[in-house]
Amino acid sequence: MSRKIAIVGAGPSGAATALFAIREGIDPRDLVLYDAARFPRKKLCGGGLTFRGTEILAELLPEEPFGTRTVGLDFRASIGAVAVRERGPQRLFDRAILDEALVARCRALGVEVREEARVLGLEPGASGTRLRLRGGTTEPYALVVGADGARSVIRREIGIPEGPVGRLVEAVYETDAPWNDARLLFDFEPVLERIPGYLWIFPYPLPDGVRRYKIGIMDGRGVTPGEVLRARTAAFAEANGFRPLEEKIPGWPERYFDRTLRAHVPGVFLTGEAWGIDPLLGEGIAPAYYMGQYTARRLRECLDRGVDTLRDYERGFLRTEEGGNLVFQGFLADRLYGRHGQRWLRVLFENGTLRELADAGTEVYGRLRGRAPRLILSYVLQQLAGLFRKGPALPESTP
Ligand SMILES: Cc1cc2nc3c(=O)[nH]c(=O)nc-3n(C[C@H](O)[C@H](O)[C@H](O)COP(=O)(O)OP(=O)(O)OC[C@H]3O[C@@H](n4cnc5c(N)ncnc54)[C@H](O)[C@@H]3O)c2cc1C
Repeated sequence: MSRKIAIVGAGPSGAATALFAIREGIDPRDLVLYDAARFPRKKLCGGGLTFRGTEILAELLPEEPFGTRTVGLDFRASIGAVAVRERGPQRLFDRAILDEALVARCRALGVEVREEARVLGLEPGASGTRLRLRGGTTEPYALVVGADGARSVIRREIGIPEGPVGRLVEAVYETDAPWNDARLLFDFEPVLERIPGYLWIFPYPLPDGVRRYKIGIMDGRGVTPGEVLRARTAAFAEANGFRPLEEKIPGWPERYFDRTLRAHVPGVFLTGEAWGIDPLLGEGIAPAYYMGQYTARRLRECLDRGVDTLRDYERGFLRTEEGGNLVFQGFLADRLYGRHGQRWLRVLFENGTLRELADAGTEVYGRLRGRAPRLILSYVLQQLAGLFRKGPALPESTP
């Protein structure tokens, strides 16, 4: 079997797959990264990395690219609030800068990076898969990785359904008002308005040092019309004293992780958002790095065994810390963004154990699955306590 591996998409998941593949001992000359864009390229994104993302980024890059850091996450709505202090700080980046740094690292280590090379499809070849490129050429590979994001062409080509998809809009703002740049704000008021998601305000660091912010909204079920999301974002920004720096509020989908969906057919492996990201906060950069690490390990296994098929590619990921936690976050998202979202939002704000964990400074977002037994117990106690109070402690949502 030829050893050549094509990675389609040079965003966080594609670059991480390449860098971890080299760490696994795969020869960088056997790796080719394709991207439709030229770097630095724009990517609609808040650019936020929670603590676990910062840990794996430190493994990928010898030096951190330009960005800033925050020391906590504020979850709030009109019915309550929780302040989260992770074990370490979060990071914020401009995605053009962050992603370019990873692509440059791939190049420096000997990976061929082909920019402005859009992959249009896949064709079965005599020994492997051929990439069909814009311009009409085809190129043969032993293995292909689909790291091409929410609208993955590779996913469609191998016949994997779209699965759960969210709708997001976001724009850049400025303000003269004082604002706490050391925290990330997640406002869940939309859940109370029947929009299954949250609004955010993140500082947007650029090397010119001018204060800017990214403000947007995530509909984690993709059910709210884009115009409603734009109007809600504009109203939220204005209410908090922000002025838009862009004429339009652009939108982009997110594809969420779903344990029932496949991510592999012979010779082709999905990773990153093409496979699915955190359904709760829509965090995609950290999952993309961890998924890239997993995919790299499994590519190495294919080369060692001379095979192009791994029967447990999806199941194996569920056994990793990131995979298990993405499933747990999906469970939480189904509650918060489901029919009884209002009720679950109250649980979130009132649950004693959750508040304790949030405040401890020892926990990490995206790693709460291990705390599930404690959380379930305290939820049961919370329910029982509600029975002894006057009136329903956790009112059901109104239809
Ligand atoms: C509004 C918004 C805000 C967000 N905010 C955050 C946040 O604050 N923090 C966070 O962690 N996540 C956030 N996300 C999610 C995050 O941006 C993505 O999950 C993450 O970029 C996924 O990384 P990836 O490498 O899998 O895909 P991508 O970053 O989408 O990279 C895919 C790459 O593939 C290339 N490509 C696509 N199609 C082709 C093709 N046919 N041929 C060749 N190349 C192709 C693209 O040019 C791109 O470079 C946000 C998303 C949105 C929409």
